[in-house]
Amino acid sequence: MVEIIRFQNYSFKYSNSQEISLNNVNLSIDKGDFALMIGDTGSGKSTLLKQLKPELALGKVTSGELSIFGEQPREQFSDIAYISQFVDNQMVTESARDEFHFVLENQGLNNEQIHSKIAEIASYFDITDLMDLGGNELSGGQKQLINLASALILNPQILLLDEPTSQLDPVTSEKFMRMIQKINQDLNITVLLVEHTIEHAVFYANRLVVIGSGTIRMNETVDIG
Ligand code: ATP
Ligand code: MG
Repeated sequence: MVEIIRFQNYSFKYSNSQEISLNNVNLSIDKGDFALMIGDTGSGKSTLLKQLKPELALGKVTSGELSIFGEQPREQFSDIAYISQFVDNQMVTESARDEFHFVLENQGLNNEQIHSKIAEIASYFDITDLMDLGGNELSGGQKQLINLASALILNPQILLLDEPTSQLDPVTSEKFMRMIQKINQDLNITVLLVEHTIEHAVFYANRLVVIGSGTIRMNETVDIG
């Protein structure tokens, strides 16, 4: 097992808050894990995920340390993709094709490479028919799929998902979870998924992490059912 994320006696406080939001967290995640993290409202789940994307959580590490690939977290680290709990805020009005084109162009790909990469991604995620629709023409589930495809466009090693199924019906949630499982298994991308309850995701994850009052209550590997 190759450990890729390690929190050690890690505590964190937001700049504008008196209270500590993460308290003495000890957690290690191995490469290829699909970790499901659950906990009550306000327990610190989103705060924990955001520590891997330091530009998202403004505050201070008050004790301990965090290493990712053996290094300290870095801003704008393209090896780590993140999908926010509030996905509508992230969604732009342009089509997925335009958005993907823009991202790939910034990576220095030429037109031919961009077209073939977009075709490949669209087919993998089964969103070819949605590629030319604007954000306001898509359902919640379709937006989630496009967001996921967009998060994976730069070939990240770690995927962070904050309550991605909260606005989806059970059938769409399940389809979405199967897609995450496929990404985790085919592409060997490490997944950290935050949910309120274990419900759907527990059938896919190989690690279950329980968070309460800003600290880790449980961290166990589980058999995939
Ligand atoms: P939920 O299930 O509702 O999304 P959560 O487990 O993700 O909850 P967090 O958002 O991580 O909870 O919040 C943990 C604690 O940190 C809470 O006490 C919250 O009030 C505080 N907090 C969260 N974001 C900020 C912020 N930007 N500034 C100050 N305090 C914050
Ligand atoms: Mg949250």
